[in-house]
Amino acid sequence: MTATMKSFAELGISAEVQRGLTDLGYEEPTPIQEQTITLLMSGSDITAQAQTGSGKTAAFGIPMIEKIDPADRRPQGLVLCPTRELAIQVADAIHAMGKHRNITITPIYGGQPYERQFRALQRGIHIVVGTPGRIMDHMRRGTISFDAVKFVVLDEADEMLDMGFVEDIEFILDAVPDERQIALFSATIPPRIAALSRRYLRDPLRISVDRDSLTVPSITQVYYEVPNHAKLDVLGRILDVEDPGAAIIFCRTKRDVDELVQSLQGRGYSAEPIHGDITQQQRERTLKRFRDKQTDVLVATDVAARGLDIPDVSHVINYDVPDDPDSYVHRIGRTARAGKEGDAITLVAPRELRQLRFIERTIGKRIKQLRVPTLADVEARRRQAFKESIVKELHGDALAPYLLLVDELAEEFDPVEIAAAAIKIATGGTGAAAATPEVKRRNDHTMAGDGVGAEPGMIRLFINIGRQDGVRPGDFVGAIANEAGIAGKEIGAIDLFDTYSFVEVPQAIAPRVVAALGHTTIRGRAVNAEIARPK
Ligand code: AMP
Repeated sequence: MTATMKSFAELGISAEVQRGLTDLGYEEPTPIQEQTITLLMSGSDITAQAQTGSGKTAAFGIPMIEKIDPADRRPQGLVLCPTRELAIQVADAIHAMGKHRNITITPIYGGQPYERQFRALQRGIHIVVGTPGRIMDHMRRGTISFDAVKFVVLDEADEMLDMGFVEDIEFILDAVPDERQIALFSATIPPRIAALSRRYLRDPLRISVDRDSLTVPSITQVYYEVPNHAKLDVLGRILDVEDPGAAIIFCRTKRDVDELVQSLQGRGYSAEPIHGDITQQQRERTLKRFRDKQTDVLVATDVAARGLDIPDVSHVINYDVPDDPDSYVHRIGRTARAGKEGDAITLVAPRELRQLRFIERTIGKRIKQLRVPTLADVEARRRQAFKESIVKELHGDALAPYLLLVDELAEEFDPVEIAAAAIKIATGGTGAAAATPEVKRRNDHTMAGDGVGAEPGMIRLFINIGRQDGVRPGDFVGAIANEAGIAGKEIGAIDLFDTYSFVEVPQAIAPRVVAALGHTTIRGRAVNAEIARPK
């Protein structure tokens, strides 16, 4: 299939948008994208039968971005969606694809204050993504005008009709200029959709993708090449960077499962085991906690996992390469169910590479190698997560009580500086921009295993060696004092466990200590230090 696929460049997409797609990790078009992008760019109307997971958002989002004239700040593109969640998701996706073309876009949906939407519209917006009811309200109030609209998309049209939006949609379509193009996307094409299409679309071309092609892009398969002894550290970084909603990690043996669960718990992750020695009753309790999101990570053997009704997970992580391709397929099939997406990540030791290649040949697909995330990536991800939580609040509608205070402060101070001060307070004032909610929380919570948090001003480091490696507290004091050039008395509490340790150091010099320890050995063991996670 890949051989006959066109590239994004061959579909006539501009360099700026291609850069946006590369940033998103899209390498080649999905079948629906391949079929629709050129048609839409050339100006045809289409009716496309496509489900979530097919890549439909980019299938209409890319041509829409390409058609926008950035100099004209009136709405030129309009996407109608059935729900507020979808509107936000589509707006975010198009924003990301179009970011190198300076396209402005805003979601407009019921439940958000009119004022905020109105202000956004006044600033000038190229693409409006919204639910039909709210958009119609804005039209009636005269706060939105579609005089310059060139391209309209009806996304999940069957859903919109089911929700009773047909009259609103007709009202909106009647108000856009005659010289517009319409693309209708729908999972099913019942007669009412066909009728809507006949009434508003011009010689629409009908596109559909078969269900099978959905599974291809919905599981992203990647691997990291990692020596066995570094797998635990790399796994920790992956969990921090990916921040999975729910993950299952597969190991080969029961012992591997137990050891990994212990190590993860020691690092503050809520992980629980599933294997043959765990009683049925215990398993059910574990699964319940996992479903209720009290546990982030299940660690399982293949055999134990097979008979179980494990809920859909966002990430499947293979801690080792499974012995046969069937079991690989089985494992990764735990994610991306019901048209959702999922990630399958495999940690591959150098001697497991041959086995991985064999799996690739059997499943007929290349698994992409990724660079192991660095500590800087982990930090960047935390910063990003913090940023996203702010953006989410901005999209929400619960800010009113705080605006009063901001207004008050704004009489005296610059709003940007007010925001910076608020972020400083929210992140504990650690300086490293949003030196992360994670780091701040560490001071409030008790750490896994030892029952106490770090002292104020101190930060707790997780170090990958412990009693079993023969280390004693003095070894850490010596190594840290020597390597990072600080006085021994500046080092705080040291807690030794069998396979790992926690050491407190002053927050301000933590990065220096982490870097310095990375170059050293203690009792002949290479050392890796990381800022410890809260439980
Ligand atoms: P959608 O059907 O638009 O909801 O997209 C489903 C998922 O596929 C989203 O997570 C997209 O980010 C992703 N996606 C869309 N197009 C591509 C592509 N060409 N390559 C890789 N992932 C894609």
